[in-house]
Amino acid sequence: MSKNVLILPGDGIGPEIVAQAERVLAAVNEKFNLGIETTKGLIGGSAIDATGGPFPDETMVKAKAADAILLGAVGGPKWDSLDMAIRPEKGLLAIRSQLNLFANLRPAILYPQLADASSLKPELVSGLDLLIVRELTGGIYFGQPRGIRVNDAGEREGFNTYIYSETEIRRIAHQAFQAAQKRGKKLCSVDKANVLEATVLWREIMTEVGKEYPEVELSHMYVDNAAMQLVRAPKQFDVMVTGNMFGDILSDCAAMLTGSIGMLPSASLDQNGKGMYEPIHGSAPDITGKGIANPLATILSVSMMLRYSLNSAEAADCIEKAVGKVLDQGLRTADIVSDGCQQISTQAMGDAVLAAL
Ligand code: NAD
Repeated sequence: MSKNVLILPGDGIGPEIVAQAERVLAAVNEKFNLGIETTKGLIGGSAIDATGGPFPDETMVKAKAADAILLGAVGGPKWDSLDMAIRPEKGLLAIRSQLNLFANLRPAILYPQLADASSLKPELVSGLDLLIVRELTGGIYFGQPRGIRVNDAGEREGFNTYIYSETEIRRIAHQAFQAAQKRGKKLCSVDKANVLEATVLWREIMTEVGKEYPEVELSHMYVDNAAMQLVRAPKQFDVMVTGNMFGDILSDCAAMLTGSIGMLPSASLDQNGKGMYEPIHGSAPDITGKGIANPLATILSVSMMLRYSLNSAEAADCIEKAVGKVLDQGLRTADIVSDGCQQISTQAMGDAVLAAL
């Protein structure tokens, strides 16, 4: 049976990196006879330019029909002055929430070949392999009421609502415990239960769900300590689970431990394993059009897609091995280059991965 993948290149470097990932997807599709068919759609700034909104109905229809979605990145200075409600990033929040993609899996793996690219000492990060499970469709990014208003004293004030229901916490807890079961069986739940009531409930539910997974060792950590521990001794962690905002920040921090934001893929899954796959970085307007963006995070997003949504672990392994081989050859894009390595372009990195496949 054929499988349908929707490709949303987005803005900035999105189309450049997605083009390389598409070539890799086409190659494994043929090599492993996967029967994958692809369609394209608009999201973010490019959708605003073409249709007036960041998440057109046509994209939503295609996204609902797809088995999996590959996304580049959205946003850029061109759209920064638009009203918040129709900014490119709203398209991303909308697709995540409309498809109910509540579980964001963000691995932070340090390829041994890139130990020098990390800002931390190699001994602290060498062999790092941690997974951050971030709740993606709730919390303060979606909570109502929100806005900017004039208070009784006549002064403007901004406000947001940090809110999590028991159901939302419970389902992300199960995803995180199940992920930990398949890995090192250690789960650290990150909250701010000393200050925020919403996270007092978070901690309570995590503890309760934990009783169903006795083989997983559960610990709790305040987010400020977690940020500190991530840069002090990141290898103490196996799986971390946290809410939307804390996860946003901690996963970018974890990304830098690995040397480049350009190396890290992510998966956003619904209850049934349907998912959207994207690099964790943004549209990088500062390097757009220069042909120097690192396409590996997007290529590795294809591999996560094959593993989690398309049931093709063999093809996923093949892509990951090819990426390792290219790094072994000393080929690097500008963001991860170091002494003794050869700097190559986005397109040349795509060529190298294809050759290694
Ligand atoms: P960014 O991730 O786009 O860039 C941060 C830095 O990392 C930049 O110096 C950039 O050049 C570099 N970088 C990012 N990806 C790279 C790659 N593949 N190869 C080499 N270098 C890379 O974050 P930002 O600058 O804060 O945001 C730029 C735009 O992207 C904003 O409009 C923001 O809203 C948007 N954004 C989108 C997403 C998304 O689509 N998922 C995520 C974050 C930010």
